Amino acid sequence: MKFDIVTIFPRMVEAPLLDGIVGRAIASGLLDVRVHDLRDFTTDRHRVVDDTPFGGGPGMVLKPEPLFAAVDRIREERCGSRSAGGGPESRRSLGDLSAEASAKVEGGCAHAIVLTSPDGERLTHEVAKRLSALDHVVILCGRYEGVDERVREHLATETISIGDYVLSGGELPALVIVDAMARLIPGVVGDEASVSGDTFARDGLLDFPQYTRPAEFRGHGVPPVLLSGHHGEIEKWRREKAIERTRTLRPDLLDTEKGDLS
Ligand code: SAH
Repeated sequence: MKFDIVTIFPRMVEAPLLDGIVGRAIASGLLDVRVHDLRDFTTDRHRVVDDTPFGGGPGMVLKPEPLFAAVDRIREERCGSRSAGGGPESRRSLGDLSAEASAKVEGGCAHAIVLTSPDGERLTHEVAKRLSALDHVVILCGRYEGVDERVREHLATETISIGDYVLSGGELPALVIVDAMARLIPGVVGDEASVSGDTFARDGLLDFPQYTRPAEFRGHGVPPVLLSGHHGEIEKWRREKAIERTRTLRPDLLDTEKGDLS
């Protein structure tokens, strides 16, 4: 799977991609992640990427031209097609964020152009799963007061937020999106069972509590069933704990629960 991240601070994004599960997946070729400096897509001598907002007000706004140029070139290089250009076909309204609407297929390359923004669709397990099935994802990192609205209207296929707070840039959100998606790509996490049992993945439940050695620590033991060696009993206990924990901590997840929780 191919990811391209467009930012004015490439260093902020590169270092975290070197280590851990994502770093290993990149080293082994399972993931192909490229980080692009937005300034490389400017045409003026001073490599300007921002300008003051029309209508006045504080701060600066990222200009549309370098972002459109970046996506044009990246799409051409990575999948041999251009998706930018602002034809009506590439237009997406705020409320039109469904998977069918956002994932586009060009030349056999299903892709998404993701704009990071605090007012976007909230990143969830389901969103990460949907994106992880694509061939190519481009992530655009905003800065300052944000990004010229025409990027959202005519370039991005979807807008994603990582939570209800405002960060100073889209770099951390881009890393969060890549990490959450990468884990769901077959082969990236060594043991598939570890991903399918994670919080949100197993019937939409939270994960069960985990313990490791020592069995007794500062007077605190571990649940005896885990030391019993009875796999059936252990499975039952874990399922009960996952349901109990979800009911206590995140009852909202059970509202939409469709699986059999018996
Ligand atoms: N003025 C904007 C905030 C801009 S923050 C507003 O009030 O909505 C600058 C950039 O940081 C944004 O363009 C976006 O790319 C990124 N960003 C900030 N918070 C984010 C969040 N919660 N999720 C995703 N991206 C975010």
